[in-house]
Amino acid sequence: MSREPKIGFVSLGCPKALVDSERILTQLRAEGYRLVPTYQDADLVVVNTCGFIDAAVEESLEAIGEALAENGRVIVTGCLGARTETIRERYPNVLAVTGPHAYEDVLQAVHEHLPPRHDPFTSLVPPQGIKLTPRHYAYLKISEGCNHRCTFCIIPALRGDLVSRPIGEVLEEAERLVAAGVKELLVVAQDTSAYGVDLRYRHGFWRGRPIRTRLAELCQALGELGAWVRLHYVYPYPHVDEIIPLMAEGKILPYLDVPLQHASPRILKAMRRPAASERTLSRIQAWREICPDITLRSTFIVGFPGETEADFEELLAFLEEARLDRVGCFKYSPVEGAAANALPDPVPEEVKEERLKRFMLLQARISAEKLQRRIGKIEQVLIDEMEDGTAVGRTRGDAPEIDGRVYIDNAEGLTHGMFVRVRIVAADEHDLWGRLESPAA
Ligand code: SF4
Repeated sequence: MSREPKIGFVSLGCPKALVDSERILTQLRAEGYRLVPTYQDADLVVVNTCGFIDAAVEESLEAIGEALAENGRVIVTGCLGARTETIRERYPNVLAVTGPHAYEDVLQAVHEHLPPRHDPFTSLVPPQGIKLTPRHYAYLKISEGCNHRCTFCIIPALRGDLVSRPIGEVLEEAERLVAAGVKELLVVAQDTSAYGVDLRYRHGFWRGRPIRTRLAELCQALGELGAWVRLHYVYPYPHVDEIIPLMAEGKILPYLDVPLQHASPRILKAMRRPAASERTLSRIQAWREICPDITLRSTFIVGFPGETEADFEELLAFLEEARLDRVGCFKYSPVEGAAANALPDPVPEEVKEERLKRFMLLQARISAEKLQRRIGKIEQVLIDEMEDGTAVGRTRGDAPEIDGRVYIDNAEGLTHGMFVRVRIVAADEHDLWGRLESPAA
């Protein structure tokens, strides 16, 4: 069984360097790296240095020396990283040296020397990894591990049972990210809706007031920060209903990523999925009644062992009825160490392929129909990047990397991280095209 990559982190220096450390750690956590407190347990150590005064330079050099002696595999970043020769002269065998406030370069160096593990069914970030250029969105990981035992998944074996991060710590991290210019927080965990279960929802503290370690309370507080807040990996448990009004009130984005994986009760049972017995369709309908603008995203697996044509058709019927907005689909493939590997009746590869095609064809039609209805509407759009004079952004209903984009031609003066108001003028089955109405707050 391949194991998860483990990182040690040493952070020196001023509050600005601390924000960089925070961002690096936040993203590494979301990508599935485990942060460990000792040199011995780490596969690699990142040292975020300070080079402000001579004493700080010496302290930083000593920290690099210690990490090299104790671990041997070291990436240096931060202010002293701007003086590559000073570092290389003393420590020629550091793996990489990157400069201050260049957290993208650190992540790149980490990926190179210690690649992240990617599992298509359970990874919290897109397969291509976190896009390194935009600094205006960040993943906020609220817990580690998982209490479920889905048969296709080895996360619990790798990371153990659910461990929620203290709510005060999560909120402080979110505050620092927003203060550093982050406009959108993507809340992730293996099972976001289970947040706080392990702590029996006990109270933590934030801004001097008690606050329960619970998803609804977390969302309420995150909604006060003035950033877009997007929820991923939320299982449709009854208490999730409490969050939908926050979406209707505009406190957090009207967006819910609910990984359903299948619709046939037989297959869900074989998968041992959480919330498999909840009445998903009626729940979706109730959510839409409270928040008609809600965007629902999900992922599914086709070709799970034992999936019959009837099971698959049940899944297609569900899709037709649920009319989800954004859908991803994977062909089942065994993961080393997963219980599902022992299940009988594997589905032949060509059948999996054919089911994937039928699935995607149906969803493309549903998606195209839904996007057509947005033509003529004015939407708030967050600009992600500029491409040859065209601004590329996303509406509230689109997560970065995995959902659709909005292309805006009359984009003069726009830059990434800006919010604008856009009139939608065209759509295909995935993306939208719009015209700038006015900059928006
Ligand atoms: S809910 Fe299931 S698929 Fe997700 S991490 Fe837990 S065991 Fe794995």
